[in-house]
Amino acid sequence: MLQLKDPSLLRQQAYVNGAWCDADNGATLAVHNPATGEKLGSVPLMGAAETRAAIAAAHAAWPAWRKKTAKERAAILRRWNDLILAHAEDLAQLMTAEQGKPLAEARGEVAYGASFIEWFGEEAKRIAGETLASPWPDRRLLVTKEPIGVCAAITPWNFPIAMITRKVGPALAAGCTMVLKPAEATPFCALALAELAERAGVPAGVFSVVTGDPAAIGGELTASPIVRKLTFTGSTAVGRLLMAQSAPTIKKLSLELGGNAPFIVFDDADLDAAVEGALASKYRNAGQTCVCANRIYVQDGVYERFAEKLVAAARKLKVGNGAEDGVTQGPLINEKAVQKVEQHVADAVAKGGRVLLGGQRHALGHGFFEPTVIADVDNTMLVATDETFGPLAPLFRFHTDEEALALANATEFGLASYFYSRDIGRIWRVAEGLESGMVGVNTGLISNEIAPFGGVKQSGLGREGSHYGLDDYLVIKYICLGGI
Ligand code: ADP
Repeated sequence: MLQLKDPSLLRQQAYVNGAWCDADNGATLAVHNPATGEKLGSVPLMGAAETRAAIAAAHAAWPAWRKKTAKERAAILRRWNDLILAHAEDLAQLMTAEQGKPLAEARGEVAYGASFIEWFGEEAKRIAGETLASPWPDRRLLVTKEPIGVCAAITPWNFPIAMITRKVGPALAAGCTMVLKPAEATPFCALALAELAERAGVPAGVFSVVTGDPAAIGGELTASPIVRKLTFTGSTAVGRLLMAQSAPTIKKLSLELGGNAPFIVFDDADLDAAVEGALASKYRNAGQTCVCANRIYVQDGVYERFAEKLVAAARKLKVGNGAEDGVTQGPLINEKAVQKVEQHVADAVAKGGRVLLGGQRHALGHGFFEPTVIADVDNTMLVATDETFGPLAPLFRFHTDEEALALANATEFGLASYFYSRDIGRIWRVAEGLESGMVGVNTGLISNEIAPFGGVKQSGLGREGSHYGLDDYLVIKYICLGGI
């Protein structure tokens, strides 16, 4: 069983209007460790009624919260950031237990997650308006920015802390209040964040966490006319549904959806660096990030050498329970996720793919899958069109820059893309030609709190992180001041 230095961080109740509470009907939802199958505990299985109560509390808390100065809100957010960092080890243990990622990655995510709270608290002090040149001598034109109001957030299980803080950080900093529904698989990290928010002095109702039935809670969050903005990270299918459900109340939306990132290795690339980047981008979090390299395109002249080097590097990954020392690849989140990787491998092999490494469930059982590399794949295969969300690197072959760009852009998604080259002309052409919201050039890791994270095409709307991420929680007001 999970041993925390501060056991009160493991909360098994939802947090609504500053109080820890159960579902109205007492129903619960079990939470399991994906590495062992062990039950870690349970959380309330809430639905529409409890969500309505949380929205009402957020609405009631909003006037006082927005009235605080940015500096006052920043001071609370700073305390929250400091508390998260002070309890980093407990939060990392909690995350590895419910999500499966190796402890080193979990520790990294806690620091990354806290950075959004710190950064947005600081940034909100710099929200500024404008005065415009008036076309009339007796009137002045002013532009101010105001918090949009009550916000709803629905978050995924792959980054159980960071996907929350990069929504609640800017929302609270801007003067909004928020109701969060975390993923069913990883509610404990969300509830621990709420516990620390309370200790930091976030007032009752400003941040509530409702756990339970996704469709019922999501239905209420989207239908409510009080909720002015919905921010969601998850699959494109659910994002599309939430967008439709938000249409009747014309909500502002931020959607961070599916990826299918291309990773292109040109023949002038530093191959060792490209392998290192591919390894980080592909196998981090066992391949379960929306910016993971999903399709690796390698130019003909370096194809075999790159494949050899990637196989040698991926072979060194240590698969196991993320809580154990030295483990670099944990389990996938559940059986369905494993089946998807199996399906992608089987489909590629049936159509002529050559398995260079792995390809099977790992002997450890549960959600474990072998680090896998498959060569000779093409765009008729599932690995070309569908996000694998697992530790499978498919290697496509290409000949010209034009071909690489066309292949990379042949997807409805457009979140992240990566490429390796040393030629400055090619770097500009390809960076400009890629249809994605983010481009990593000669690097496989791009995320931080200062940069705008988000996609184009069906990968979503809006940006998180950066000063652009704060704009998503603000509305513009134009004031025309006459009688001068
Ligand atoms: P994944 O397949 O990676 O779990 P999802 O998009 O299904 O991605 O999940 C992301 C988040 O969306 C989770 O918090 C999940 O509970 C939530 N979710 C899933 N279905 C719905 C729905 N119908 N309405 C609202 N939220 C949903």
